[in-house]
Amino acid sequence: MEHSADYVVAGAGSAGCIVARRLAEAGASVILLEAGGPDRTRLVRQPGMIAIFHNVPALKKRLDWGYYTAPQAGALGRRIPQPRGRVLGGSGSINGMVFVRGNRKNYDDWAAAGCTGWSYADVLPSFRRMEDWEDGATALRGAGGPIRVRRQKDLTPASSAFIEALAATAGVKKIDDYNGEAQEGAAVCQQNAAGGLRYSSSIGYLDGHGLPNLTVTTGALITRVVIDKGRATGVEVVTQEGPSTIRATREVILCAGVFGSAQLLMLSGVGPAGHLREHGITVVADLPVGDNLHDHLFVPMTYCMASARNRGTTPYFVGGVVKEAVRGGSWMGRTVFEALGFVRSSRAPGSEDVPDLQIHVLPWSYPFPNQDAPIRHKVDKRPALTIMPTLIYPKSRGTVRLASADPSAAPVIDPGYLTEPDDTRLLLDGMELIRAVMASPVIAGQVSCELSPGAGYPDRAALAGELPNRATSVYHAVGSCRMGADERAVVDPALRVRGVEGLRVADASIMPSITGGNTNAPAMMIGEHCASLMAASLTGQEAAGS
Ligand SMILES: Cc1cc2nc3c(=O)[nH]c(=O)nc-3n(C[C@H](O)[C@H](O)[C@H](O)COP(=O)(O)OP(=O)(O)OC[C@H]3O[C@@H](n4cnc5c(N)ncnc54)[C@H](O)[C@@H]3O)c2cc1C
Repeated sequence: MEHSADYVVAGAGSAGCIVARRLAEAGASVILLEAGGPDRTRLVRQPGMIAIFHNVPALKKRLDWGYYTAPQAGALGRRIPQPRGRVLGGSGSINGMVFVRGNRKNYDDWAAAGCTGWSYADVLPSFRRMEDWEDGATALRGAGGPIRVRRQKDLTPASSAFIEALAATAGVKKIDDYNGEAQEGAAVCQQNAAGGLRYSSSIGYLDGHGLPNLTVTTGALITRVVIDKGRATGVEVVTQEGPSTIRATREVILCAGVFGSAQLLMLSGVGPAGHLREHGITVVADLPVGDNLHDHLFVPMTYCMASARNRGTTPYFVGGVVKEAVRGGSWMGRTVFEALGFVRSSRAPGSEDVPDLQIHVLPWSYPFPNQDAPIRHKVDKRPALTIMPTLIYPKSRGTVRLASADPSAAPVIDPGYLTEPDDTRLLLDGMELIRAVMASPVIAGQVSCELSPGAGYPDRAALAGELPNRATSVYHAVGSCRMGADERAVVDPALRVRGVEGLRVADASIMPSITGGNTNAPAMMIGEHCASLMAASLTGQEAAGS
């Protein structure tokens, strides 16, 4: 194990693998440290495995930190699962591979709020550099990059019909590429998977990297950033060989994710002073680390459709595996999502200048998620379409805090779900929209029943009563180490931790506000963008305060 390098990158997730690879390519020596194990397993690499390992606790434990939120007052005190990848590739190794950049306005809003250098025009080169888009390069899309992005193929007739029905009912267009010119519309889902392989940042950027100056160490739990006289000089880690210190002669870059980076900063004395003192931690910098936590919520709605799949049955799985073994095929080579929509809620016509609801569609029955325990595989056995009306701009905000000064203890995750009434209102709009879509002549003939929430909840009032029992996370938490130019920001627009030298954060935690869509592509972009911001410092050109 190497013990010193120019840069130590803490956490090999969606962003961390990219930061490490790009810094090493630029000639620096880099040590990338990851608490989890290697990702050379079919469980990670074969996209269809997500339908299996998330539902088999013994497999899930190998790859997941297995977090839960604190009891959510806005959700009947439920503790909502918060899986996070604990493996090379991080959450990008266990996620649904839905590839969405977000709305270009999200980045323009970041820039307008003081994050100079993060407008859409600024981050577009980082998105393009990352991609290998199936239609080839354009002014907006990239080709030849490490992450292969493909449209989902062979949609079930149920998902295709949904795209038509959503477009007709919501008054939006059927669009070819929601990551291109415009996001609004109904579309086939894009996935970062191709040729039967998941394209996580680990697979895309680390497999066969051949860089002697890049050391990747798995099984290394980072317990603290060492900060000496206001400067980060390395990290303390625990491996199988015991505790040790890894020195960074230039910088430490925290890429431990929305929970991990906040936790590590607080363990290192960077965080809300009162909270740190409660845990006996010496305060290095009094910053609002852990505040501004927010996430996307949805409520699953399931419809019986003859032309959907019935993945819940043993014959379906056995049939798929046999098909794959005998004649190859795409059965295990794809994500479970087939269609997406980006639409405006009906409540405030004209008040939103971007789509404020995302609709995810998967052609099978999704387990009812109201339990305070690992989601069990209780899917309905009938072919069904699950539609997820998803709140993409939540107003509710929460916190990540330390449960204890013990680095191996899970942090306290309290996203404050549904504490803002507008969030409930928007989710109800989404649910009503889906009912209208499924009742539309374009698709109604194919629908045999609404399985969930079902006839027991016939109107908005009934749905409102049940929503806190069913709303759940799409696992897109962000924002706990907010980037900004103001006094309350944790990192500046160059991702440097305010008040500490030689320390940056680069992962989903730095988002000032969540992007309108799934957060993996933005997290990978943050990794690319961080490396390009640092390229200047590698050549000694970085301006102070840039
Ligand atoms: C089940 C699931 C499904 C999802 N589906 C999608 C999807 O379909 N599309 C999409 O766009 N987004 C999806 N997401 C969200 C997306 O994957 C995340 O937003 C993104 O991966 C976050 O990247 P990150 O780099 O911030 O953190 P991560 O990828 O989580 O990386 C953090 C890394 O740091 C490591 N780490 C943390 N603490 C320590 C420590 N103390 N010591 C050493 N290492 C540490 C972790 O093990 C991990 O490898 C999903 C997430 C989950 C969990």
